[in-house]
Amino acid sequence: ETFDTMNLQENLLRGIYAYGFEKPSAIQQRGIVPFSKGLDVIQQAQSGTGKTATFCAGILQSLDYSVTECQALVLAPTRELAQQIEKVMRALGDYLQVKCHACVGGTSVREDTRILQAGVHVIVGTPGRVYDMLRRRALKSDHIKIFALDEADEMLSRGFKDQIYDIFTLLPPKVQVGVFSATLPPEALEITRKFMTKPVRILV
Ligand code: AMP
Repeated sequence: ETFDTMNLQENLLRGIYAYGFEKPSAIQQRGIVPFSKGLDVIQQAQSGTGKTATFCAGILQSLDYSVTECQALVLAPTRELAQQIEKVMRALGDYLQVKCHACVGGTSVREDTRILQAGVHVIVGTPGRVYDMLRRRALKSDHIKIFALDEADEMLSRGFKDQIYDIFTLLPPKVQVGVFSATLPPEALEITRKFMTKPVRILV
């Protein structure tokens, strides 16, 4: 399998190759297509296997670039990881002119609000700041169709369970959900049961 046979948009492929990827990793071979088709997906894989690009490519393939509304929300356990994911999303989506922003604590709320007002396609953030922005209606959830939880096990062990549930209740009811996690402890399985419909499970 190659990136070419995944039926991805030309400008996404250009972004992937320009980033320096030549061949999809195992998880990318199995995970990009189902996620880009709108299926709920559980991907159990260690970090280092290429899962970031898996969900970034899946998201970038599904966005409607003719509307500058937030259509995908990615949560990560730490500020650094959220910022790192946002950079990958931006790089892979360079030729699609994707507008992304990292919504994380320790930065200016006013600046976040300004950027959100100007319009984004994707938000990558930590649960606390994202919930805050949703509550303020600075981040509008009406157009969000994809909700991705990266390192779900780590977010749960850091005590973000309630915030993740609070965020989920503010999203449109039919939101597509992706859970990406090295392990699936009981609380992560509970999330998959409560948030997902017939998820595809990919274990690498
Ligand atoms: P991740 O598991 O998403 O944190 O990725 C681990 C590392 O592998 C990162 O440095 C990625 O840039 C790199 N990587 C991911 N997918 C590929 C690929 N298809 N080809 C080459 N490097 C990759």
